[in-house]
Amino acid sequence: MKKMYKILLSVLVSQLLFTASWAQSEAKSDKKTTNESPININTANLPADNNNLVVTLKSNGTSSECHLDDNYSGDEEKYVNVKVYAAPMSAKNNLTLNGTTYTFLQCHFHLQSEHTLNKKAEDMEAHFVFQDTVTKGLVVIGVFMKKGGKDNSFFATVLTQFEDLLDPKKSDNSHGSDFTINLNKLDGNTSLTDYAGTYYNYDGSLTTPPFTKGVQWFVSQKKMSISNSQYTQFKQFRYKYSSGKKYPIGYARHVQPLGNRTVTSKTK
Ligand SMILES: [Zn+2]
Repeated sequence: MKKMYKILLSVLVSQLLFTASWAQSEAKSDKKTTNESPININTANLPADNNNLVVTLKSNGTSSECHLDDNYSGDEEKYVNVKVYAAPMSAKNNLTLNGTTYTFLQCHFHLQSEHTLNKKAEDMEAHFVFQDTVTKGLVVIGVFMKKGGKDNSFFATVLTQFEDLLDPKKSDNSHGSDFTINLNKLDGNTSLTDYAGTYYNYDGSLTTPPFTKGVQWFVSQKKMSISNSQYTQFKQFRYKYSSGKKYPIGYARHVQPLGNRTVTSKTK
């Protein structure tokens, strides 16, 4: 409740300053930006990827909680994202990257997509975040989400939790109740392992302050399908929350320079 109060208060205070302060933060960051995320991926003539990425889903479901995360602190607070946390983090769903194990930590959603392909953004982008529990290093699998399909049952589960979490009438909406997401069935029978089978890889950063570097990005070449109404439902979270005031949820950072980095491609 305390956190909600803090978030609500910060919204009231920062509402008018939102656009300007976001731009300032971006500008400050952009000046020194190297090796940051997201990026535009020019898909032509990419070298083949030779990482050894293995996603292991040992259980059908992962016990989860939704949380509102402001992503920012102090004067850098700009927007919230709703994250689905594995609670507790278990070793049941993990990946190994070149022999190092990372455990599923959380997933969250951006509208529109953060990465762009040939300068074109997709409707949304899901980020599945894995962490090395010892070094705290991060691997993120990004999955573009495209509206116009059938209702997606995984996203439907998440949206139901978001509705509860974002309902200001709920007594304690700093986080939702426990529920289960199934990383084996993210779109019909398409699993996270399938999404991690073809990808663009590069070395980047978190897309929210403090823009921590050294994040290994695997942006799937396979897109997740959602329905138009699910897209609209997620989009409306920005407006429904906080007495109808515009409240940016799932906001996307704009693309950062590629610099000297190489994007590699794994096509099968
Ligand atoms: Zn993200």
